[in-house]
Amino acid sequence: MASNKKLLVLPGDGIGPEVMRQVRRVVDWMDKRRHVSFDIQEGLVGGAALDAHGTPLTDETMADALAVDAVLFGSVGGPKWDDLPFEKKPERGLLRLRKEMDLFANLRPAIVFPALADASTLKRELVEGLDILILRELTGGVYFGEPRGVETLPDGTKKAVDTQVYTTPEIERVARVGFDLARKRGGKVHSVEKANVMHTGVLWRETVTKLHETEGKGIELHHMYADNCAMQLVRNPKQFDVIVTDNLFGDILSDCAAMLTGSLGMLPSASLGLEDPTTGRRMALYEPVHGSAPDIAGQDMANPLAELLSFAMLLRYSFDMGEDADMIEKAINNVLDAGFRTADIYVPGTAKVSTTVMGDTLLRELDK
Ligand code: ATP
Ligand code: MG
Repeated sequence: MASNKKLLVLPGDGIGPEVMRQVRRVVDWMDKRRHVSFDIQEGLVGGAALDAHGTPLTDETMADALAVDAVLFGSVGGPKWDDLPFEKKPERGLLRLRKEMDLFANLRPAIVFPALADASTLKRELVEGLDILILRELTGGVYFGEPRGVETLPDGTKKAVDTQVYTTPEIERVARVGFDLARKRGGKVHSVEKANVMHTGVLWRETVTKLHETEGKGIELHHMYADNCAMQLVRNPKQFDVIVTDNLFGDILSDCAAMLTGSLGMLPSASLGLEDPTTGRRMALYEPVHGSAPDIAGQDMANPLAELLSFAMLLRYSFDMGEDADMIEKAINNVLDAGFRTADIYVPGTAKVSTTVMGDTLLRELDK
């Protein structure tokens, strides 16, 4: 079955192309064994685009990203481009994609694979079977609010200002995604803010409560202060299903949740935009949480699982291919269970394998 789904693949720099190669092998496997194929374009981003075209993202690639059903991103940056001015940095390529695709909802799952439960920073009982999803608002809040800046006062001291701004439509659209996701998962949402000390927190709580009455039927909604949420993530993380929060708290809480799972090499993410009311299409970009890891690039030792899990999310959320996503995730779980580990998740008693061998092993598992 040829699918008409359009996919733009942007491997980028460092370990990006290495981990993406393993995804392409799974895509080829799906084509051959399951007879599903996609309309795939590949483009340059970051340092790779700078070297070829003098810009971290060309207008053509940007236009492609806006036209496809989903973008699968690798990673950008590296020492070669460190000295460039801010607006020329490889990272600008990713920021431009996020901005022009208006990706306001950042999904970061924290899943603990049974075989890796001991890699967590917490005790096995606390994290075994953990499966939570942090939904971070990505385009508003204190990262963008005006006024902002640093000013020197008449007495020579300095003053710095950041402003947190949220509007009801901004809160509603991310909360709506939260309810939609919870409906497909455990049916529970924790909305997180600091309504006890912040006006944006008060508006956040009020807006989510109101939206829940009209669009949250059947969803169990809890409100929680961000400081308490941080504590609860460490004390009893399994109480959570979906956590919806603002840009700053989401940044902090998702890193906290990430450490529950063990390695950066295992963490996927998705960033979603608005749904087009006529086509039903939603802008979406999928990427591993890790960066380009220049220290291990080119050595065939990076863990490709975060990129593969990002691809599984893409299948589930953008292509409505949940069964195929489940199949890939299950195969990954089995490979880990069988003791195969890349260096970042290696423990004595398991088999340390390269990026390529991890890919080989996964394909063999999929074949079963
Ligand atoms: P960025 O600023 O792009 O997020 P960073 O400085 O946070 O990058 P990463 O590139 O994410 O750093 O990597 C941090 C370290 O984690 C790397 O130096 C590498 O050793 C390790 N690491 C990251 N990703 C992986 C992976 N997929 N497999 C194995 N190790 C990884
Ligand atoms: Mg980083």
